[in-house]
Amino acid sequence: TSFAHFNFDEQLMHQIRKSEYTQPTPIQCQGVPIALSGRDMIGIAKTGSGKTAAFIWPMLVHIMDQKELEPGEGPIAVIVCPTRELCQQIHAECKRFGKAYSLRSVAVYGGGSMWEQAKALQDGAEIVVCTPFTARVCLRPRLCRDMLKSFFVFFLFALEYQVRSIASHVRPDRQTLLFSATFRKKIERLARDILVDPIRVVQ
Ligand code: AMP
Repeated sequence: TSFAHFNFDEQLMHQIRKSEYTQPTPIQCQGVPIALSGRDMIGIAKTGSGKTAAFIWPMLVHIMDQKELEPGEGPIAVIVCPTRELCQQIHAECKRFGKAYSLRSVAVYGGGSMWEQAKALQDGAEIVVCTPFTARVCLRPRLCRDMLKSFFVFFLFALEYQVRSIASHVRPDRQTLLFSATFRKKIERLARDILVDPIRVVQ
């Protein structure tokens, strides 16, 4: 598979070329078409496999299909990840690839400037990258609001009970992707409860 198979538009391809990636990684070859199709997915992939881009690229495509946000609306995509460092890293990737479309990404985590984060959310951000704790505290009221026709959520594996709790507050017609470095019974169980007919990608 080459990048051309994904049918990304020129803006996104430009950013990918700037990254000097010569070809998609295996998780990208398998995961990108699934995520683009709107199906739920479980991705079992290690750090360095390229899984972040595998969900960010389709996420950007989906966001571009939505209407523009009015101030105070959003987010369209939520990425929940276990640590602050990962939040910052993923947020940086969202900004890098989302730059082509002037999309706004906000990283929300404990220890960051709460005022700045709240302000950025209030101004309207398409993408929020957060830890499970901040997702529950800051995002819950927003996620409950039925603001956009179909928004979708990605979870990177964090504490199971927190993920369950967040999922229960997000509209059921979301698209959900669940990533984990290892394959465990617990993940199967969680997937059965919060994903709909998911496709499994093991890398
Ligand atoms: P991950 O933590 O699994 O998302 O892996 C991310 C690392 O893989 C980062 O250093 C990326 O810059 C790099 N990466 C992502 N996609 C590709 C690709 N198609 N070709 C080469 N490196 C990539």
